[in-house]
Amino acid sequence: MATLDKIVALCKRRGFVYQSAEIYGGLNGVYDFGPLGTLLKQNIRASWIKSMMNMADNIVMLEGALLGPYEVWKASGHIDNFNDPMVDCTNCKHRYRTDEIDLQKPCPHCGIIAWTEPRQFNMMFKTQLGAASDQASTAYLRPETAQAIYINFKNVLSTTRVKIPFGIAQIGKAFRNEITPKQFLFRMREFEQMEMEWFCKPEESNDWFERWAQARKEFYQAIGITPERIRLRSHAPDELAHYSQACIDVEYDFPFGWKELEGIAHRGNFDLSQHTKHSGKDLGVYDEETKESYIPHVVECSVGVDRLFLTTLFDAYTEDTVEDEERVVLKLSPVLAPVKAAFMPLTKKLSDQAHAIYSTIRARGIMVQFDESGSIGKRYRRQDEIGTPFCFTYDFDSETTGTVTVRHRDTTFQERINIDHINTFLTEKLSL
Ligand code: ATP
Repeated sequence: MATLDKIVALCKRRGFVYQSAEIYGGLNGVYDFGPLGTLLKQNIRASWIKSMMNMADNIVMLEGALLGPYEVWKASGHIDNFNDPMVDCTNCKHRYRTDEIDLQKPCPHCGIIAWTEPRQFNMMFKTQLGAASDQASTAYLRPETAQAIYINFKNVLSTTRVKIPFGIAQIGKAFRNEITPKQFLFRMREFEQMEMEWFCKPEESNDWFERWAQARKEFYQAIGITPERIRLRSHAPDELAHYSQACIDVEYDFPFGWKELEGIAHRGNFDLSQHTKHSGKDLGVYDEETKESYIPHVVECSVGVDRLFLTTLFDAYTEDTVEDEERVVLKLSPVLAPVKAAFMPLTKKLSDQAHAIYSTIRARGIMVQFDESGSIGKRYRRQDEIGTPFCFTYDFDSETTGTVTVRHRDTTFQERINIDHINTFLTEKLSL
């Protein structure tokens, strides 16, 4: 029922996502997040951090720079291998990824067969630091966040009390010059990743790999994604990147097919070995038991904030009929919902009393809205469409009984609740 068009329209209409630089015609593959989108993103990040901290008590966080020098990307393999093969149509100048089209057939845009030879296109954004323009001043916007973790591995080890096995987690922007950005937030040129690199002993790495894959799947259930629409898929040996020992994708059943939402990769000691080799700094660790040095193995969990944002919207979007009226409702988990509750006076005469309750809850740091305009039904629909799980209505009985009604978004069921209990009620419902 949730098509891409419906999601895009809802995002625009309600201020979740805007095309970036829209008033200038838009920038392809780049988006700005509006007031509600910003809140949803914050909740996604917070639930991810919480799930990481729950899984292991020795995960620390890092915030690496977005710019990295040539040497980092040479060592990581991105300079040489981070390519997509592409072709151009010499007639209409449209550019395609070779895996997206059939070179025996005419160009889907102009209908003529006039292909260039396929060639490799490096997806990193290159720039210059300062005024000089030589290799020493060349920098790249990071195409993934993980490298900042590897190059700071020794810093973290020597400045904190973590010991192997442990993890370093990071949330931040990444940039890829995708040849054909598409499907809205699914494939963007500027996006955000949540990555966790787990450093462990080589002999324990397979076990950790399996455990992380299961933990990551459970995370999606905990944030309310429909279990039947999530699956784990192991990569076949011929799908694996050369450095990767094993890889499992968490896939979601999008309207355009089962696609990767998160990648869990057993990266062996590839990254730390590469940076040891290229930097000349030993990134190995000393094992007190065996009295030998070794390079730890890494299990990586990597998911896009924006791709998960899109997933939560697809999963939550529902159209149903309530009291003969059609409504759009986002059945988001209360943990993710951008607005947790709305406070409404039944009529404007009761505004002051309703507003006073709203203010106390808002002062506790819970994201709530006050809404007094339009019929109560209309106000409920407005909140349904942005996924607000609870609406509290102050009516003519509230003064005498000390209660308000609480309406539940998904069922539209209403019950009365003591005003003094609203805070506890919300705190309970909003914990992961
Ligand atoms: P894909 O095969 O879809 O291009 P990938 O295997 O290149 O993905 P990774 O390098 O494993 O992706 O990145 C990890 C995660 O980052 C992905 O699972 C996805 O959630 C997110 N991601 C990667 N590229 C993009 C993008 N262009 N736009 C939005 N999210 C992205």
